Amino acid sequence: MRGDRRRPARARLPDAGERGAGGDDGGAVVSGAYDLIVLGAGPAGVGAAVTARSHGLSVLVVDENETTGGQVYRATPQAFATRADAPANPDKKEGAGQRQSLLASGAAVAFRHSVWQVSPGYRVDAVGQGGPVHWSAPAVIAATGTTERVVPFPGWTLPGVIGLAAATILLKSQQMLPGRRPVIAGCGPLLAAVAVAVLDGGGKPAAVLDLSGPGDWLAALPALASRPDLALRGLGWVVRLKAAGVPVHFRTGIAAVRETADGLAVTPCRVDADRRPLPDGAGQDIETDCVAVGHGLTPGTEITRLLRARHRFDAALGGWVAEHDADFRTSLPGLYVAGDGAGISGAAAAHLQGQLAGLAVARDLGRLGADAHETAAAPVRKRLAAAQRFGRAMARLMALRPAHAASVAPDTVVCRCEDVTRGEIDEAVAAGARDVNQLKAWTRCGMGPCQGRMCGETAASLVAEAVGSRGAAGLWTGRAPLRPVPMDLLTGDFTYADIPLPKAAPL
Ligand SMILES: Cc1cc2nc3c(=O)[nH]c(=O)nc-3n(C[C@H](O)[C@H](O)[C@H](O)COP(=O)(O)OP(=O)(O)OC[C@H]3O[C@@H](n4cnc5c(N)ncnc54)[C@H](O)[C@@H]3O)c2cc1C
Repeated sequence: MRGDRRRPARARLPDAGERGAGGDDGGAVVSGAYDLIVLGAGPAGVGAAVTARSHGLSVLVVDENETTGGQVYRATPQAFATRADAPANPDKKEGAGQRQSLLASGAAVAFRHSVWQVSPGYRVDAVGQGGPVHWSAPAVIAATGTTERVVPFPGWTLPGVIGLAAATILLKSQQMLPGRRPVIAGCGPLLAAVAVAVLDGGGKPAAVLDLSGPGDWLAALPALASRPDLALRGLGWVVRLKAAGVPVHFRTGIAAVRETADGLAVTPCRVDADRRPLPDGAGQDIETDCVAVGHGLTPGTEITRLLRARHRFDAALGGWVAEHDADFRTSLPGLYVAGDGAGISGAAAAHLQGQLAGLAVARDLGRLGADAHETAAAPVRKRLAAAQRFGRAMARLMALRPAHAASVAPDTVVCRCEDVTRGEIDEAVAAGARDVNQLKAWTRCGMGPCQGRMCGETAASLVAEAVGSRGAAGLWTGRAPLRPVPMDLLTGDFTYADIPLPKAAPL
């Protein structure tokens, strides 16, 4: 038993400030208490932290990544060389600017720290390479971003089948191709972004399968006009794909993926406007070495659910979101949200939402008068309206259609952590499971290490079919730990003999 050979120390969490934390963006020393803790260093978190700092608040930013940028401005690890012939990427410039502004703001940073618990008041518990640590603040901004959604199909758990958004991590951070001839499938703007990045990296997608039809893209055009720069960039991607001869199939999803002697074979399938597979819609198999598939993004609400803030369901925003006012205050005093975690709106909107949340904290903590707050917030709100129009049009293209989730076959695994199939979910619902938490208790669906981040949306959509709506199917109850935490890091060293045993209960 490992405890027996260890020094006899009582397990305890270190006091706040005992362990410093730092990162590549400045390595500021972390003390115990702050005015504001910002969770997440993506565009939303950086916008919030820099704004709050500019009004004199002491701010700590925590992120499990190595540095700022979040998903969209993800940086290449410092040890990696960047290809001299790498194509120019406007995201890199924006990311570098945000990194610099956070550094210059003087905010304390704790990178490579995973937040696993947030308690009312607020206390934030995290684990980093140095072990557990906790901090406190009267205000917390949850800017934790989003999770990729994949609606299961036969073969989705095979090696070589990866998330579409996950492919952007390989491409941006590791500078690796997900495959030399990947099939890129799903919906939304990441399809073309990933396909073009594969071309840039020297590969060639075997096919792009888009669940949307040309009509869906046309319907988004008026909103795209609110950000002509981004719309033009998207148009450039389409032209690149056409020029490179990459086959793009609209209203097409994946019926199944299977292993072959050479890699993988994808059976495509035509779908209707609700993304329901058409009878006899299956097409010819496509040979490939990788499948990058994503069916949209879901707001990351773990922290607001854990703290029991009020939430509402909005399919167009990606699912359940914490209720918030125009300045991103949630229903709980001192708790704010910003960015994709508050509803999928894209990187530009996330940054502006962060700024508004930062201003609201400064006002609520008495560092900014009402008039000064209004003066500072008004132009940001105006810019946010335009950015959100664009981002939300993209989010609508990626919203989960119930008919898509309903098309999952009975023997397909939905919860891959706990191996729960669609059939088992149906059985639980037929036996009386009336909301997602009952389903979880009865089947263990959503109870594994990912805590429902992968299966939650599909499972909830299936329950909703039976009970009438996603609202009725309910919200997964937030539970700590938010991230898998090595227990020995939390307990520290101890001897079993030191553990006080409670008196046995009388029989
Ligand atoms: C995998 C992935 C890839 C994406 N790639 C692109 C892309 O290439 N282009 C694009 O336009 N959009 C992309 N998106 C969408 C993009 O995330 C958003 O539009 C934008 O980044 C939102 O900014 P944000 O600040 O709200 O969240 P994010 O940028 O996601 O930042 C949230 C941050 O919170 C941190 N975090 C979350 N939970 C914890 C925790 N418990 N402990 C510590 N830190 C935590 C994360 O590490 C992350 O850095 C991607 C989304 C995903 C999920």
